[in-house]
Amino acid sequence: MSDYDVDLFVIGAGSGGVRASRVAAAHGAKVAVAEEFRVGGTCVIRGCVPKKLLIYGAHFAEDLKDARRFGWNVPDCGFEWTTLRDNVLGEVDRLEGLYKNTLDSHKVEVIPERATVTGPHELTLASGRTLTAKYILVATGAWPMLPDVEGAEHGITSNEVFHLDKCPERMVIVGGGYIANEFAGIFHQLGTHVTIVNRSGTLLRGYDESVRDRLLQISMTKGINFRFNAEFEKIEKNEDGTMCIRMKNGDPIACDTLMFATGRRPHTDGLGLENAGVALDEKGAIKVDDYNKTSCESIYAVGDVTNRVQLTPVAIREGHAFADTVFGDNPRTVDYGCIPSAVFSHPPLAGVGMTEAEARNKLGTVKIYTSDFRPMKNVLAGREERALYKMIVDATTNRVVGLHMIGPDAPEILQAAAIAVKAGLTKQDFDDTVALHPSMAEELVLLK
Ligand code: NDP
Repeated sequence: MSDYDVDLFVIGAGSGGVRASRVAAAHGAKVAVAEEFRVGGTCVIRGCVPKKLLIYGAHFAEDLKDARRFGWNVPDCGFEWTTLRDNVLGEVDRLEGLYKNTLDSHKVEVIPERATVTGPHELTLASGRTLTAKYILVATGAWPMLPDVEGAEHGITSNEVFHLDKCPERMVIVGGGYIANEFAGIFHQLGTHVTIVNRSGTLLRGYDESVRDRLLQISMTKGINFRFNAEFEKIEKNEDGTMCIRMKNGDPIACDTLMFATGRRPHTDGLGLENAGVALDEKGAIKVDDYNKTSCESIYAVGDVTNRVQLTPVAIREGHAFADTVFGDNPRTVDYGCIPSAVFSHPPLAGVGMTEAEARNKLGTVKIYTSDFRPMKNVLAGREERALYKMIVDATTNRVVGLHMIGPDAPEILQAAAIAVKAGLTKQDFDDTVALHPSMAEELVLLK
């Protein structure tokens, strides 16, 4: 008989928390998970999933135009935001149901309340009930961070954008990262006049420069506006609900929706972690060792709350490794090498391994192969938009150490190519593979 109410108490039913709960339960643990909002977390409820569905919805704007060049008689089509929004939210509800079923079928108790840590083995729920647990897992994710500017409260974040009453006519998006570029693409396609306002001159820090430049060039050609090195003065809300964004450098910008996409902070505020001596870093992230253990022996943490790599598949792996380690008698760590990632901008970009700049710094001598081409479909559709693929090769070993691409379906292509990079294959291995013709992906084995 255990001395505790449960073997594992998980705070947060997002990607990492749900995976850890399910696997720990499958290993025989008695598990409870507290979730103050909705089961599924950022990815399912207000992130990756609804975002990707909006991307699909927005893409029809160009697809319907292009269809005419392919012989289809497409009448002028109207777009209804509320139909897309409600269908997307309906799909989110369906997926939340599936997540709940998974937890139910593994006999994980879901407690729809906020839980705080009141000791190394103790939790207190919002209702006042206390519970004890042999182990606690914190998987509370991250939360949008707003810059400190007067009037910031008039803006929304990616939490609210899926629920807008109508498609904005003029939208300002603050930030130059993942969320800013993805939503700029979505709303631009849906007919909104979009302006990206960024504090530096660099978009998507961390991605390869050539690919980032290509996205900027295509986005500007499409009609997305950019303000770089921008400094806010204040944000004013007018009586009619519109806003005026006043800048210290540059003209004011009028808009009816302002969205902040300025990064996400680990969600540790008010969790009571100090009651168990759980150490945080200077950004408020929970410090963990390779096995996801915090500075408290009985408390672990996975996912965005640890601010290692803020990506869903990484949180899932961390949750799984934690459960195998603690309940499956199989100590496992996560391998963070060669994680592929993508930005679902319009067009999307994706990358794995080192960028050219990183490789030059780390390896010294590198060989760079690029293919700058106009996809066949764009040619017939009369679109000038060009794709760019770039391969970084270690000149000493001939190993492919990085792949970066922008163009239609880049994330789909890169996922498969990432296996080769992760496996340490060489440029010769790519060259030895016969092209699959006609495809865009064949460029990867034809690079000269
Ligand atoms: P990002 O870290 O991608 O970008 C944040 C942007 O905001 C940067 O341009 C940054 O500028 C800027 N910024 C940061 N602080 C301030 C500030 N105080 N004032 C003005 N600008 C500021 O964050 P996102 O919010 O776009 O996304 C959060 C995370 O979620 C991502 O890092 C990613 O891990 C994940 N995500 C992943 C997606 C995917 O896999 N496709 C999609 C969406 C999100 P600077 O560069 O100068 O620091």
